[in-house]
Amino acid sequence: MSTLTIQNDTKKLFSAGDVIMRQGDEGDCAYIILSGRVEIIVTNENGGQQHVGSRGAGAMIGEMALIDNAPRTATIKATQDCQLLEISKENFGQRIDSADPVIKMAIQVILTRYRDILKRAEIIGHPAASELDAEAIELDLARGSSAMETLRLANDFEHALENGHIYAYYQPIMDIQSGKIAGFEALMRWIDPDKGFIRPDLFIPVLEESGLIVKASQWMLKESLKALKRIENKAGFENDLFMSVNFSSHDFSEAGFTQTVYDTISTTDIKPQQLHIEITERLLIGQPDKANATLSECRQAGIGISIDDFGTGYSSLSYLHAFPIDCLKIDRSFVMMIEKDERARQLVHSIVGLGQNLGIKIIAEGIETEEESEMLKSMGCEMGQGYYFCKPMPETEVILFAKEHH
Ligand code: C2E
Ligand code: CA
Ligand code: CA
Repeated sequence: MSTLTIQNDTKKLFSAGDVIMRQGDEGDCAYIILSGRVEIIVTNENGGQQHVGSRGAGAMIGEMALIDNAPRTATIKATQDCQLLEISKENFGQRIDSADPVIKMAIQVILTRYRDILKRAEIIGHPAASELDAEAIELDLARGSSAMETLRLANDFEHALENGHIYAYYQPIMDIQSGKIAGFEALMRWIDPDKGFIRPDLFIPVLEESGLIVKASQWMLKESLKALKRIENKAGFENDLFMSVNFSSHDFSEAGFTQTVYDTISTTDIKPQQLHIEITERLLIGQPDKANATLSECRQAGIGISIDDFGTGYSSLSYLHAFPIDCLKIDRSFVMMIEKDERARQLVHSIVGLGQNLGIKIIAEGIETEEESEMLKSMGCEMGQGYYFCKPMPETEVILFAKEHH
């Protein structure tokens, strides 16, 4: 008999006849059988019960709980007294993260294949897939083996960039007071020919973690500024619109960041004032001296500076006068509350007032309804973006929108 030597584990004892897990119940852990034996029973649609197998020491039971949130698919009963090792999702993730790299890789391959099988089952409408949430599995995979997932995604991204699977989308930013278009935010899209749409909130953090974000940002900057020129030409504007591009702290740490940005501006024939750099409060607090030097260089060059997700970072407002800031983007989490929540409304109103007093423009993010837009307009908020006006779109569609909102 083999002995398992795992530290800090939770062991559970069951007597012969006990139900260990019940079909239909929510699964939150798996077990490895250390000793004893269990039987697996499936209840069919008519309520009939069927014995489908048995398992002994060394086997894993309830393993689906580790990769998806679906209910238990079978009832498992102890047929002998059993000692089980409990494995929660968190515990599973920790074990993978601290495993030997080869073991990690093997688990990653198995889980990825498993997920692909489930996805295929879903496509052909196999009943096994109906309860499974592919997106949840995707997230669990990222959580469960973050190191491997980072490596894989980062590797795939470079490939995707070379093969034209990375796209620049643009979301119009509106002048709320006049209803005309003021500019765009450039947003990255990864559309894989096989896997489909890969969400930015999944891959952008991976790019940041791996440092690949610098390459991605430079690509985005060039693409979006070239596009701005074409959009203006085709929609009848002349250096009137701006392009807001997201940058991370990695970008800011690069030597010669401002020079690189300035070179791109020169080659794309737009005015420096037409570029807005979007950064978060976190970046300012994390590396204040470096940030201030870089932002001052940008300001001298005429480039606009926007603070993204304003209100979600640090509460200190001292940076508003310590750094050269042109624009505050009020986070969507506040905007979505202004209709129902009086305090959120007051808060947003105060930020608009603050902006007016300091000569900083305000952009409200994530406007989804006419009511929100009207409310922000009456508060004196200058600009807004959100699904109410327009979703992020490829260049060809954005040109039509710009023509209509000249
Ligand atoms: P973000 O910078 O806060 O971008 C705004 C996000 O809100 C975008 O999500 C946009 O599609 C979404 N959005 C806009 N209006 C609405 C609305 O009315 N309702 C709702 N529910 N959502 C709205 P997206 O494109 O998925 O991007 C997510 C995040 O990924 C971005 O958040 C940004 O942090 C990051 N990201 C995207 N593209 C880039 C990029 O090129 N560079 C960098 N560094 N980050 C990027
Ligand atoms: Ca942004
Ligand atoms: Ca934002």
